[in-house]
Amino acid sequence: MTHVIAQPCINVKDKACVDVCPVDCIHGGDNDPQLYINPNDCIDCTLCVDACPVQAIFAEEDLPAEWKSFADTNRKHYEK
Ligand code: SF4
Ligand code: SF4
Repeated sequence: MTHVIAQPCINVKDKACVDVCPVDCIHGGDNDPQLYINPNDCIDCTLCVDACPVQAIFAEEDLPAEWKSFADTNRKHYEK
């Protein structure tokens, strides 16, 4: 399992989640529309969920139906 960053992060990108992640698995460059969670490193601690001001982060299995595709969006960021 992993956590996933979904649509609400787009154009927000305040990095509040980065500051609380104990394994430093949240990344994104200046040209990326959002930040992403590395599914290989996330330990599902849920700290980022509460830190996010726009409720953009979900456990993969709890992603709302309209944002299911963000699981792949996050994963693919680390396949480049
Ligand atoms: S759930 Fe924990 S380990 Fe996973 S991205 Fe969020 S803060 Fe990092
Ligand atoms: S805290 Fe939420 S809005 Fe801010 S960068 Fe992280 S996922 Fe995006």
